[in-house]
Amino acid sequence: VEVLVLKEAAAGERRVAATPETVRKLVAAGATVRVEPGAGLGAGISDQAYAEAGALPAAADARASAELVLCVQPPAPELIGALREGAVLVGMLHPQADPARAAALQARRIRAFPLERLPRTTRAQAMDVLSSQAGMAGYKATLIAAQLAPRFFPMLTTAAGTIRPSKVLVVGAGVAGLQAIATARRLGAQVEGFDVRPETREQIESLGGKFLDLGVSAAGEGGYARALTDEERAEQQRRLAEHVRNIDVIVCTAAVPGRPAPKIISAAMVAGMKPGSVIVDLAAETGGNCELTERGQTVERHGVTIAGPLDLASMGAVHASEMYARNVFNFVVLFLKDGALSFDWNDELLAKTAWPEPPAATAAA
Ligand code: NAD
Repeated sequence: VEVLVLKEAAAGERRVAATPETVRKLVAAGATVRVEPGAGLGAGISDQAYAEAGALPAAADARASAELVLCVQPPAPELIGALREGAVLVGMLHPQADPARAAALQARRIRAFPLERLPRTTRAQAMDVLSSQAGMAGYKATLIAAQLAPRFFPMLTTAAGTIRPSKVLVVGAGVAGLQAIATARRLGAQVEGFDVRPETREQIESLGGKFLDLGVSAAGEGGYARALTDEERAEQQRRLAEHVRNIDVIVCTAAVPGRPAPKIISAAMVAGMKPGSVIVDLAAETGGNCELTERGQTVERHGVTIAGPLDLASMGAVHASEMYARNVFNFVVLFLKDGALSFDWNDELLAKTAWPEPPAATAAA
């Protein structure tokens, strides 16, 4: 089978869907791997390094001949149009987010595996790109907050007196939030976190954070949160407004699958914060957890610096790619057998990830 690794085209995207390590494994599994020139440069991987791992350079016609195409971000409709009819495409494809992209995939009869659709079961953990990339995003969000904050994170005892540690509040304690908490703790801040899933209390505490109890519990399906009712939201807001007056740094990470980010930090709350405080809103991509977040911008409102970065995982492209590429490889071997592609639609990881949905899960295709 002929595999093609795309050079990402999205602005600011530095990650890549395969590394020399996973190229080696794909070759060992019987694949011919072609890598587009410069595909790994943003992640510190030269064409030479791919060649040494057994990859071939991708000639101009590689897109039209590859049977399996690996990417990070969804390719543009024109690129999809240049792929071989019936090719298999694996990446974070979000087909529903863009009708033109969805139409292009269907026009070429592309068998797409948007990895964000992967069921989050125990077996799927090694393929879970949402988790691996969220870990990097949470880490970077805290570092950006530390960079923007006009203060130390740790407590310091110096000849010029004692500096009290920064108070950091992390909103949402999923994969990104927990990594944000861990990172802020390593920098010596006093860290609090909250979430609407009750099990996060223990997870926050195990990282040395304090669980901020806002009296709202809203666990949803599949280990995710559900949206709050108006009453629950009002209660959360009331308690939080009081609390944030005393917080130096807020890192926002709250999300509800398939919905815009919940609005948790209101404009009034920001106005009530001390000047010089910082908010980094990792949820900026889906609208932000803070009412005053501007997508992709860093702004100052009421003396508070509010950052809404969009490419946090890409900022850590070396390790983000290392993890992403392993996730992709672990998924691809579900259907790469003896150098050929073969889909067992009884495997729920394949059946539930595939887009469009596969033929009834009876016979293997
Ligand atoms: P996510 O990105 O959808 O959401 C981030 C966090 O925001 C979640 O913890 C959610 O509860 C929280 N949140 C939503 N609305 C909120 C609100 N109004 N106020 C405060 N917090 C709010 O979620 P995620 O980080 O991708 O995953 C969440 C959880 O799913 C994980 O912590 C884990 O328990 C589970 N998970 C399981 C697996 C697996 O078993 N393979 C893999 C990944 C995640």
